[in-house]
Amino acid sequence: MLSTETATNGHSKQFKVIIIGGGIAGLTLAHSLERAGISYTLLEKHHDFRPRLGGVLVIAPSGARIIDQLGLYESMSEVSEPITTPRTGFPDGQCSSQHWLSELERRYGYPVNVITRQKMLEVLYDGLRESTNVIGGKRVTGIYHKESEVAVHTADGGVYKGDLVVGADGVNSIARLDMLQAAGKGAMQEATSLASEYRVLIGMSKQIAGIRAGEQIVRCHDGFAIFVFCGKDSELGWFVVDKLDRRYQYPDKPVYSTADNISFCESIGDVQIWDEVRFRDVFNARTSFSSALVEENVFQTWHSGRIVCIGDSISKASPNTGLGASMAMESAAALASQLYQLVHCTQGKPSQAAVDESLSNFRKSHHQRSRIIGYASYEAIRLHTRATFVKRLVGPMFMTSERMALFFQSTVADGGAKLDFLPLPPRGTAWGETKRGFLRRCWIVIVGGLLTVLLLMQG
Ligand SMILES: Cc1cc2nc3c(=O)[nH]c(=O)nc-3n(C[C@H](O)[C@H](O)[C@H](O)COP(=O)(O)OP(=O)(O)OC[C@H]3O[C@@H](n4cnc5c(N)ncnc54)[C@H](O)[C@@H]3O)c2cc1C
Repeated sequence: MLSTETATNGHSKQFKVIIIGGGIAGLTLAHSLERAGISYTLLEKHHDFRPRLGGVLVIAPSGARIIDQLGLYESMSEVSEPITTPRTGFPDGQCSSQHWLSELERRYGYPVNVITRQKMLEVLYDGLRESTNVIGGKRVTGIYHKESEVAVHTADGGVYKGDLVVGADGVNSIARLDMLQAAGKGAMQEATSLASEYRVLIGMSKQIAGIRAGEQIVRCHDGFAIFVFCGKDSELGWFVVDKLDRRYQYPDKPVYSTADNISFCESIGDVQIWDEVRFRDVFNARTSFSSALVEENVFQTWHSGRIVCIGDSISKASPNTGLGASMAMESAAALASQLYQLVHCTQGKPSQAAVDESLSNFRKSHHQRSRIIGYASYEAIRLHTRATFVKRLVGPMFMTSERMALFFQSTVADGGAKLDFLPLPPRGTAWGETKRGFLRRCWIVIVGGLLTVLLLMQG
């Protein structure tokens, strides 16, 4: 295992990775490969690596631990705000404030942080040691295989050759399409498996009286839900998820103009956020506003030949569990851990069989977790928008239970991927405990149940 500081400076010239996309997943992978001593080039279509696009991201303890392993936790903390007070409200006026996050932080050593997407990208980009490998203004248009080499073509006529291509190019991934094509006809059917039943309206707003730093407010209504986060310097990040008229299967998509989106936000202006604050106050204080479809799917195929995908390109979930960015970081860490083994435990260039095995181990290590979190996020958006009678009935109980929230977040933290070749920061004492505790409880229930049945049968 390498020490955090002693990243291999002499990069392995044997194996070169081309990363497509300089979002959260791509930049986390770039850092991880630097630490693993594996050479790479990252191609991003935007010229600017810190675009002021989007709103806020939530960084869960599992994501924070990876950022810490990469030596970036202090710089991230300086520009993020720990969430201290989650609050939830329902249409009948029932409201509750919860206090379980301090216990989560005590267990895992990291708070749940809220940070603007722009600042998170800035922390990642500015922290790179070799930013010359990271090139902006390079929109990838195609990937070509030639024996064991892969060539990536960009819109400006550039050609970048390597041994492996990693698609970190988000939900509309070009790398995913090439990978599915390479995997064959069966896999290509997956190309249309993304579906949308919701849209999301995303904004940032100036500080407003009545909402304090560290608060996260969720307002659940029939068909829509509002999330407001009060981040660094009391700047607000918010999003509204709104149910569409029907389910849209990719590539079928509804089209909304900015005027449509504004008019929807104005129509819910009277909704209470907290105390005297209405959604209108948040919306009118906006400094940015955008929208997207909430696309959902965890793909089955994650790699083929010399192409592998990470982040949103293969695992896209609703924003309602706040785990998208952390899962993108985790998938980068899980892949880097396998590539470290592949490159450093192989003499000379790894064969195609060795590459296949390494990518298959990556999928094995992270696919089931992505599916579980994808499922939890699928359920969460439907609970928050009160999609069915049962969800309207049980939703308030689920969403205000501190024990349930703590159990869910602890389980998520415990199973988090990390960089296996870097030391773990000495934070938190409970990593791994919940799963062990849960398994222990399962065994007690099973054994207790069997003993009771035996006793009853004897009686
Ligand atoms: C503009 C934008 C705003 C967002 N806002 C929010 C938000 O407010 N809240 C939230 O929770 N999540 C938001 N997300 C999603 C969030 O960033 C992801 O869920 C999560 O961070 C996973 O990131 P990712 O790196 O896998 O994908 P992404 O964040 O989508 O990053 C993909 C990157 O690949 C680049 N790219 C795409 N195609 C190509 C190509 N052909 N060639 C080269 N580069 C390419 C993109 O420009 C982008 O930088 C946003 C995503 C985007 C793209």
